[in-house]
Amino acid sequence: MHILYVEDNETNQALVGRVVRARQHLVTFREEGEAALKVLEEDATIGLILLDVELAGTMTGLDCVRALRARGDRRPVVAVTAYAMMGDRERILEAGCDGYLPKPLVVPDLLALLDHYEAELSKASTPAPQPATAPTPAAPQSAAASTPAAPQSAAASTPAAPQPPNPPGSAPQTVPPSTVEPPKPVETTHPD
Ligand code: MN
Repeated sequence: MHILYVEDNETNQALVGRVVRARQHLVTFREEGEAALKVLEEDATIGLILLDVELAGTMTGLDCVRALRARGDRRPVVAVTAYAMMGDRERILEAGCDGYLPKPLVVPDLLALLDHYEAELSKASTPAPQPATAPTPAAPQSAAASTPAAPQSAAASTPAAPQPPNPPGSAPQTVPPSTVEPPKPVETTHPD
């Protein structure tokens, strides 16, 4: 799967880049909404967009997804942002995003989301009808069911009870034991 990650923070790019490459996905980065819209126009192989909200350039992530939907592009967009309040979540979904992943990123949740959208893309290439609304991206049971070939333990693909976000500077509790290239424990995602 080819993923576009629109993010202006290098630390977050590095973390997500390692996770998605560990799943054998291809990742392209852009730091501005304008550049993201351009590459999405030119590259039809991109199947999933991860979108920071506070971007470099003049557009926010929400401006970006609104422009994308306005021109008829229905590819899945998941906002990745520190915006954690309910009103912000609704605003993100109303702008046209399909899902939401809070920062600091929890690696098993990101892996489950990647597995979910990879399965959705596989279904889209068959004649089977698509559901009208996408299920919750991070649902662990669908992730486990959709990755029979992944050499992953049930513990790694099925996160326990939701964890509160790590306070800045604390060690992220996000490293699954069987990840091929686990992120270094000293790293955490930047709030924006
Ligand atoms: Mn940002």
